Amino acid sequence: MELKDIAHKTSFRDIRYPRLEFRTGELVLVLPKGEDPEEILRRHKKWIADKIKRIEECREAAKTKDLVQRGNQDFQGLVLQYIVNISQEFKVKINGVIFRTLKTKWASISPKKNLTFNAMMSFLPDHLIEYIVFHEIAHLKHKHHNADFWKMISKRFKNYQDWEEDLFIYWFKMK
Ligand SMILES: [Zn+2]
Repeated sequence: MELKDIAHKTSFRDIRYPRLEFRTGELVLVLPKGEDPEEILRRHKKWIADKIKRIEECREAAKTKDLVQRGNQDFQGLVLQYIVNISQEFKVKINGVIFRTLKTKWASISPKKNLTFNAMMSFLPDHLIEYIVFHEIAHLKHKHHNADFWKMISKRFKNYQDWEEDLFIYWFKMK
């Protein structure tokens, strides 16, 4: 396995340690200046191979998923309805909602309680849209994906691990 055989992006920065991650299926290397990418690849060969295998499995699984076709108004109306219900449940007031195309995530929430949703969520089934809304609003209670956060999620969504997995798989259908 050589770096040239793997789709990747390399950039160099003023950092101490190399960072490797897969962003939507592409290997991204951020390296300290002067570091040799081939050497990093050799050192992390197993990790990279495992990730590539997992991505291949997800691409296969993605073939079994169907995209939902719904109009933009239906989609946004559905999201807003979930926001109304879930924010009541959490007793929080959401400031604003933005829909746009995001390249690396389904949604996010800011400390100022502004929600941003990936417009591509409109292709997801209802239960996953509801899950995303709940997940983001839950971050107002627990900022990070720690044990308390997942405990809160699991009370409402027993199968949240399946939904997380499905969301990861659906990502591979979006391009
Ligand atoms: Zn999260």
